[in-house]
Amino acid sequence: MRPQPNSLYARDVEYVLHPNTNARRHEEIGPIVIDRGEGIYVYDDQGNRYIEGLGGLWSVAVGFGEKRLVEAASRQMAKLPYYHTFSHKTNEPSVELAERLVKMTPERLRRVFFTNSGSEANDTVIKMVWYYNNAIGRPEKKKFISRLNAYHGITIASGSLTGLPANQRDFDLPFLPVKHVTCPHYYRNALPGEGEEAFADRLAAELEATILEEGPETVAAFIGEPLMGAGGVMPPPATYWEKVQAVCRRHDVLIVADEVINGFGRLGTMFACEYYGIDPDIMVLSKQITSSYLPLAAVLISQEIYDGIADNSGRIGTFGHGFTASGHPVPAAVALENLDIIEEKGLVANAARVGEVMQSELRTLSDHPLVGEVRGVGLIAGVELVADKATKAKFDPVGRIGAQVFAKAHEHGLIIRAIGDVIAFCPPLIITEDQVRDMVARFTRTLDDVAESIG
Ligand code: PLP
Repeated sequence: MRPQPNSLYARDVEYVLHPNTNARRHEEIGPIVIDRGEGIYVYDDQGNRYIEGLGGLWSVAVGFGEKRLVEAASRQMAKLPYYHTFSHKTNEPSVELAERLVKMTPERLRRVFFTNSGSEANDTVIKMVWYYNNAIGRPEKKKFISRLNAYHGITIASGSLTGLPANQRDFDLPFLPVKHVTCPHYYRNALPGEGEEAFADRLAAELEATILEEGPETVAAFIGEPLMGAGGVMPPPATYWEKVQAVCRRHDVLIVADEVINGFGRLGTMFACEYYGIDPDIMVLSKQITSSYLPLAAVLISQEIYDGIADNSGRIGTFGHGFTASGHPVPAAVALENLDIIEEKGLVANAARVGEVMQSELRTLSDHPLVGEVRGVGLIAGVELVADKATKAKFDPVGRIGAQVFAKAHEHGLIIRAIGDVIAFCPPLIITEDQVRDMVARFTRTLDDVAESIG
């Protein structure tokens, strides 16, 4: 059906270039207009209700329509709608939030720098590490190591850390000296007969060999999501992080934990660093920090890194980095209220308890003819669809079935994410057991329909 002239659909197609979207396909099928949200649900402008199985973009922890966040924003807007934090200025919400983040994250992390987005936060990490290594007299130590399939953002720098072809192809990325090592995904990348710990040994040895080959004096940092999200929801194999950390420490390579998706309860612990025993030098937070009601990200750094940066700014006159909205009081006020809600409602414990139900319900699909692997921790999961369960053969082309499942799920009142042929789940942390069962039932009907349509 052709959209009415001048309708929102027609004007969207006419005027908007959508992020992460096939633009020509969008011209054919047009948008779904999401009109409002309540709890774990969003509604389109036709009145259809969907379970938001991905919490927006992995981010709406407290659910949609949370009035306390609206009121927190409104109170702050009325009092001080904006101010910057350049040149010795500050404001109460950003100081309170910085203090709270330092107190709730691992001991080593002592200072906070605010940005608008996860991508800017990871760009900031790169610049801080370079500035720090210049400051302490090791200007050669500049390279970053990331992993294939990693997602760390899309700007020129963070998009170089990302290891996904779709985000790099024809953008001339990676642009920076980044080495990408093997993705720690046991199902796809372990050798036949290799146990999880042996796989982790091999990955740690590969990391060490890469550092030695590059020259440890040139390798500044290793960045990883504790549990990889947007690359396809991939929990690491057992013992991976302890082994990777040991290698990094041996070669004086900083450890950067990107908790943009994992942070604030997703795995059933406040931070995934707790879950995997990671003690990072730098941590990156965003998304659930405000439940994405307003844009905000934070970079937390150790005292050593702070001291190096502070000394250098003293010598050269400034730490010449910052955004107009670094420390913006309104998202900071929303973050504080959001963290209150997470704590008061016990949403981290809820993610652990209801997350177990989600994991076990989804694992009942392991026998489904389309399903190769079900994986995840807490309230984040991935279901990988395969053409052949025995050989793990992928569909050809990769992504076609995922796109079908994505589209069909809408008919069953469910929004999920298809990453190629991996279907991702990351619902709001407020989800209940019954709602999880409903979500998985809708997904099962979706998979059955797609299985039937492809014969
Ligand atoms: N890091 C991780 C782990 C992410 O998942 C994302 C976004 O999905 C980013 C960084 C980039 O964040 P943003 O989209 O806010 O730039």
